[in-house]
Amino acid sequence: MAADASSVPTSQPALRHDWTRAEVEALFALPFNDLLFQAQSLHRQYHRPNSVQLSTLLSIKTGACPEDCAYCPQSVRFETGLKKEPLLDVEVVLEAAREAKDNGATRFCMGAAWRSPKDRDLERVEAMVRGVKAMGLETCVTLGMLKPAQAERLAGAGLDYYNHNLDTSPEYYGKIISTRTYEDRLDTLANVRAAGVKVCCGGIVGMGEEQSDRAGLLQQLANLSPHPESVPINDLVQVAGTPLKGADSLGGIEFVRVIAVARILMPASYVRLSAGRTAMSDETQALAFFAGANSIFYGEKLLTTENPQNARDRALLVQLGIQTEGAVAPSAAAEAGAGCGAGAAAAATSCCG
Ligand code: SF4
Repeated sequence: MAADASSVPTSQPALRHDWTRAEVEALFALPFNDLLFQAQSLHRQYHRPNSVQLSTLLSIKTGACPEDCAYCPQSVRFETGLKKEPLLDVEVVLEAAREAKDNGATRFCMGAAWRSPKDRDLERVEAMVRGVKAMGLETCVTLGMLKPAQAERLAGAGLDYYNHNLDTSPEYYGKIISTRTYEDRLDTLANVRAAGVKVCCGGIVGMGEEQSDRAGLLQQLANLSPHPESVPINDLVQVAGTPLKGADSLGGIEFVRVIAVARILMPASYVRLSAGRTAMSDETQALAFFAGANSIFYGEKLLTTENPQNARDRALLVQLGIQTEGAVAPSAAAEAGAGCGAGAAAAATSCCG
C-alpha cells in the first residue's frame, strides 16, 4: 500500500471503548519494536503517515489559580516566581492568532488559569473564539471546569475544541491534585460533549507515577466514548517551587511507549506531543512520530514554559520528510519569522495540554 503523505488511508478496524487494564498493561510490556510496529501499522490505517498538525497555545490569563495541581507553576499555592497576568484583551489575542496562522498553525489554543470561568469573563473569551475562528483557524480553549450552560455558550461562539486533561490514572490522581476530583473532570468532559464541542483530553507523564498509572490514564481516555478527538501527552516540565520538582524523569523510550500505546488504543485520534519537547532529542521525537504522534504544539512558549524554537521544529520536520497539515509547509513557514510569543507566559503541564 502507498505510504506517503498523499496516500489516503482505507481499511480501518472498529474503535474500541472497552479496554481492560490488563490489556493496556500487556501493550506496555511488548518488546519495543513489536509495539512500534503495531502502532505504526494502525496509524497508517487512519492517518497520513508523514503529516503532522500544528497547534499554537497562548496563555490568555496567567497565574493566581486557586487549584493545587502539583505540577503547575500557575497555582497560587506555590512560589515559582511566575508573573501573573489578568485576562488579555481580545485584540492582543487576535494579533497572536494572526501570527500563529502566518507561521503555519491550523489550530489556536487559548489557556486561562482558572478553577472555572466566571460568566463575565466568558463574554471576552467568546469574542476571542469568534475572532480567531473568523481567521479560518480552528479554536480551542482550556478554562478549567465548565458547567453545561457555559459549554453551550462557547459552542454558540463557534468553539471547535475544549481542552480538559485527566492528568493521570484515577489511582494516582490524589497524589497530584486535591482541589478537584477525577469525577469533576469527567463531568466537564461530558458537558463539553453534550454541547457539541470536540474534546481535547490527555495527561501528563513523568510525575513519579508507575507504568501501571500511565496504563490507567490511557485506559480511561480510551474508554471515553467517543474517544477524545485530540490527545495531548505531556512529559512533565519540572518547575522550581512546584512539589514535583525533582521527580524521576521518564526517559525517551518509556515516553515513546506511551505514545505508541495511545495510538493503538485511540487510532483515529490526533495524538499530540505537548509539554516536554524542548528537553527531548530529535531522535526521541522522531520515534514518537513513528509511534503515531501526529500533532505538536508549535511556537516558542507553551503557556509559561519553553517549547522548541520554531527553527528547530522546522528543521526536524524537513529532515524527517514530514509535512504540516493545512496552510504553510515548514520550509515556507521558515520565511515568515518567529511564531506566537505574545504574552505567552505557565507550565506546559498546566490544565492546558
Ligand atoms: S493546572 Fe490549571 S487548574 Fe491546575 S493549578 Fe494550573 S492553571 Fe490551575
